[in-house]
Amino acid sequence: MIKYISTRDPGEPQSFTDVLLSGMAPDGGLYIPDQWPEFDRKLIGHLQGLSYAEIAMQVIRPFIGTIDDETLQKIITQTYSSANFGHSAIAPLTQVGPNAWILELFHGPTLSFKDYAMQLLGRLFDHVLERRGRRVTIVGATSGDTGSAAIEACRGCKNIDIFIMHPQGRTSEVQRRQMTTVIAPNVHNIAIEGTFDDCQHIVKSLFADIQLRDELSLSAVNSINWARIMAQTVYYFTAALALGAPDRPVSFTVPTGNFGNVYAAYAARRMGLPVHKLCIATNRNDILARFFETGAMKTEKVVPSLSPSMDIQVSSNFERYLCELMDHDHGSLRKIMESFRRNKKFALSPELMQKARRDFTAGRCSDLDTMAMMESCRRETGILIDPHTAVAMRCAAETIAADPAVPMVILACAHPAKFPQAVGEAVGFKLPSEPRLAEIMKKPERFTTLPADIKAVKNFIQNEVSG
Ligand SMILES: *Cc1c(COP(=O)(O)O)cnc(C)c1O
Repeated sequence: MIKYISTRDPGEPQSFTDVLLSGMAPDGGLYIPDQWPEFDRKLIGHLQGLSYAEIAMQVIRPFIGTIDDETLQKIITQTYSSANFGHSAIAPLTQVGPNAWILELFHGPTLSFKDYAMQLLGRLFDHVLERRGRRVTIVGATSGDTGSAAIEACRGCKNIDIFIMHPQGRTSEVQRRQMTTVIAPNVHNIAIEGTFDDCQHIVKSLFADIQLRDELSLSAVNSINWARIMAQTVYYFTAALALGAPDRPVSFTVPTGNFGNVYAAYAARRMGLPVHKLCIATNRNDILARFFETGAMKTEKVVPSLSPSMDIQVSSNFERYLCELMDHDHGSLRKIMESFRRNKKFALSPELMQKARRDFTAGRCSDLDTMAMMESCRRETGILIDPHTAVAMRCAAETIAADPAVPMVILACAHPAKFPQAVGEAVGFKLPSEPRLAEIMKKPERFTTLPADIKAVKNFIQNEVSG
């Protein structure tokens, strides 16, 4: 059975349920599976023609040893149903070029790809907490889409209090309203006077406070939670299968922030899916692109862009990949992460970089090119794409030119209606209104503004939970 170990210290391997509830490992590392399930050609061949929910069951089951098949089947069928997602294919492909597709991951309740994992997570939490007779406090940071997807997934859960921090004024109005208009006693929105990285730093510090962790049963649902990565591997399988896997390899370009989604693609490849190129797309906050160019990870100031969900300089999930890249040399990894925390930079050896460059390519896209891409995509295909998808499409171009015979799948992680201003300006007309969003633009908002200060946030959470 697959167990989970921390990237920083293998210690005592944990079960799926423990990892689900705790999110981050107590030593500050991230959980990774101690082995990868193997899907050989034959097994992948058996998935051809199955529905999204059926493929999800096969792909996810090996990762979960602690929930029986019948229950898991029920949870997965409910999650990936057309009652929950606005498209019967759940994650449809749309052709945008001779051998290029976008994978539409915006058919969930909050119109971003985060729903694909979060809707499953909410149900898994519900099931496990109920069975254990427990209650948890979920604390998370969002640069935009995670928060609303998490709140939407937890709003009805009676055993969960959820606190979501967003960087004040740095999410789009739609993104903010998707969170702040959910008025439920267990939902708490906090606007932090700072950047997304400040929010993420506060979350990490709260989790490092062992006493607080125990007192409130803190739990994380940002992409450091392993279960999200697991759920995200599914659409790489469905997309590759639709385009000819296992007989034909497929490339993916993933708009990247915290490295969760592209790490899920890497996981799918490790499981045996024939993934050819994996392209990391970044905007002007291009720490990952610079890393692949120079071999050095070096943070710079976060600059707001048209694709705010990628405005990030520290990609937490990169640690998971580093651990794999370094063949589970936990001691050396610990040193690297410690140096990164202290000096805001680290560098890898040429040998490791050579290996890393075989796993990934990386590109960047300016705001100007993002606008141009939204316009040309609309002009050439009639399809509206959001700024994050445009960044990915732009970054995919080089790989498409290099490997024209390999199908390229560009991940469309948000619905264009979530960014009406940028998209409208790019294509030159006002976007048709999206009924699922029109309503929240009128509803009252509720949130608390706090400074980027760990103590202030801690006090607020303790007060709200005990009150
Ligand atoms: C969250 C998000 C991203 C970044 O995904 P990561 O898994 O953090 O790399 C990119 N685009 C959109 C639209 C998002 O919501």
